[in-house]
Amino acid sequence: MSFDLIMCSFCGKAFVGVKGHKPICDECKSDEDSLYKKVRTLIRDHPDKGFTVPEVARLFDVEECKINYFVGQGMFQLSRANGLANSEIVKEFLKDI
Ligand SMILES: [Zn+2]
Repeated sequence: MSFDLIMCSFCGKAFVGVKGHKPICDECKSDEDSLYKKVRTLIRDHPDKGFTVPEVARLFDVEECKINYFVGQGMFQLSRANGLANSEIVKEFLKDI
């Protein structure tokens, strides 16, 4: 097994880990899980309200890349909102992790 310097896909910091594995540094592992649960709860509690990625990021005071990371992992889906140009709404994607 070889270790490489890889970039955390959550916070963007470089860390030493195994390539090919889900690239998340140790610091982010617990953050990722708790943030995911918070975002999921928010979306579940407001099924009729659409939240865009920047809105979600602002609500939880995190970087947009962290929300985009979840989308990239298939944990949330983006869908275009009617009437709102270039507005992508975060939807929960039913998937067990
Ligand atoms: Zn990280």
